[in-house]
Amino acid sequence: MSSESRSNAAQSAASSPESPRTGQDFIRARIQSDNASQRFEGRVHTRFPPEPNGYLHLGHAKSICLNFGVAAEFGGLCNLRFDDTNPVKEDTEYVDSIREDVRWLGGDWQDRLYYASDYFEQLYQYAEQLIRMGKAYVDDLSAEEIRALRGTLTEAGQESPWRDRSVEENLDLFRRMRAGEFPDGAKVLRAKIDMASPNLVMRDPTLYRIRHAAHHRTGNAWCIYPMYDYTHCLSDSLEGITHSLCTLEFVNNRELYDWVLDALGVYHPQQIEFARLNLTYTILSKRKLIQLVQEGHVSGWDDPRMPTLSGLRRRGVPPEALREFCARIGLARSDSTVDYSMLEFCIREQLNAHAPRVMAVLDPIKVVIENYPEDLTEEFDMPYHPEDASYGSRKVPFTRELYIERDDFRLDPPQKFHRLFPGAEVRLRYAYFITCREAILDEHGEVRELRCIYDPASRGGQSPDGRKVKGTIHWVSAAHGIPAEVRLYGQLFATENPDAAPEGKTFIDNLNPESLRTVQAWLEPALADAPVGRSVQFERLGYFCKDKDSTPELPVFNRTATLRDTWAKLEKKEG
Ligand code: ATP
Ligand code: MG
Repeated sequence: MSSESRSNAAQSAASSPESPRTGQDFIRARIQSDNASQRFEGRVHTRFPPEPNGYLHLGHAKSICLNFGVAAEFGGLCNLRFDDTNPVKEDTEYVDSIREDVRWLGGDWQDRLYYASDYFEQLYQYAEQLIRMGKAYVDDLSAEEIRALRGTLTEAGQESPWRDRSVEENLDLFRRMRAGEFPDGAKVLRAKIDMASPNLVMRDPTLYRIRHAAHHRTGNAWCIYPMYDYTHCLSDSLEGITHSLCTLEFVNNRELYDWVLDALGVYHPQQIEFARLNLTYTILSKRKLIQLVQEGHVSGWDDPRMPTLSGLRRRGVPPEALREFCARIGLARSDSTVDYSMLEFCIREQLNAHAPRVMAVLDPIKVVIENYPEDLTEEFDMPYHPEDASYGSRKVPFTRELYIERDDFRLDPPQKFHRLFPGAEVRLRYAYFITCREAILDEHGEVRELRCIYDPASRGGQSPDGRKVKGTIHWVSAAHGIPAEVRLYGQLFATENPDAAPEGKTFIDNLNPESLRTVQAWLEPALADAPVGRSVQFERLGYFCKDKDSTPELPVFNRTATLRDTWAKLEKKEG
């Protein structure tokens, strides 16, 4: 799909109630035809193979949904495999977070949790086998020398002077590499393929390098570590994977994937490439996300502005929304960029259907209802969901002093302003009609307090005599409201393509300085028991969830997403 038709698809998805299902993308078609020909005896077995060198992000979500999704649809299996071959960058913190994130998104690997490091001995034996077949050799060239001799797209590479060592010498040197006799970088094991191959990947790729470093799982058992291309295909083979789904940058590596398996004559899965997810206003590169964390541009991997699964979870995004997003973006064979609004659409759609409704005031002005008794508290029963009674209801206290949203009042209302202004009557949601008598200003001319009267006959927000009020606004009792900190998030990056930075600048310069605004708000008392992480709708304001930074004294809420204006609908219902 071209990037143009992709963004059209995003737009039409945003306006259509049905979600297009990915029933027939090229990967599923391929699997169907393999099943039809009994190529893998009708088995479907995929894997999600993260390297534990960072937290998972939205791009990984696409891969998780694809691998676990395809397996489920075809009655197959999907493994979780840590591709942990680089001891220097990997860590158990990442392993733990990845397991949590995959599970949260709905990936179920059952008892098939694997680590490439579990195969180190087997991979080593395979390497000796390649040496014995004359298909691998120990090279003394340095990494730079190897690079220099590799040639270019238009020029063949040159063979290493060590390429024709005898099998015995190669075996001896490789065993001594394993035994720790040589320092880092002194030698590598290379496949003996073709230095003139048009595919640079095939010009005697490195299979093993020396790294005297402790591994997070194997400790100091090894000082040589297998390279990704070598490890990946053999891990797939050992696990009986049928379809090895990976992103497009591995197209050229497929030839090597096939070469290794063919050379060893072992079980041979099919690698299939698909386009990575790119998203506007978003960075999806682990290296850059690490930089954001390490340089303190965000509060951590789970900062709610991060495109990480842990960040999205903390922000209150439900996993269903991400699965829907992945289903809608579909699969393509060429790279494109998805509009961020598509993700927001999926989040809103999910939360609109499932988030309980509550009231909160983010920018308060006090309202005093002069004719309401000072010592009276009434309770109004309010449904948690207007369309689904199964959500139940809660009692919301109403008192003489309330808070309303500053924006719902104007001293000088523009035309067609249907909310509160001096002399105007509005409905307080589910409570009463009130009329504003007077606005009291502070010394700066800012509205400090509104003096109002209420109509006792409009109890429950019902018109007593058929007279209409056009505005309905939300409110929180000043006596019963809970003070809270609310964090309003914008895009982490100010530019649509954060990677595009002018000369001398980097993606860091594209950070949005206004990506976080914090306000002091008032919440209705029912929110005292809100669980961390589950979003509710603050009526008319958006979706919010309690953050883990909350204390008993001060709850903290994250804005998950803004709301498209549901105002018109609301008025119709109550009017
Ligand atoms: P690195 O930049 O470190 O190579 P990576 O993003 O490739 O990182 P991996 O841990 O190797 O990270 O990824 C695990 C799986 O997720 C791989 O199969 C990879 O292809 C897939 N994946 C990673 N990023 C994306 C993306 N943006 N879109 C789709 N799939 C992705
Ligand atoms: Mg990778």
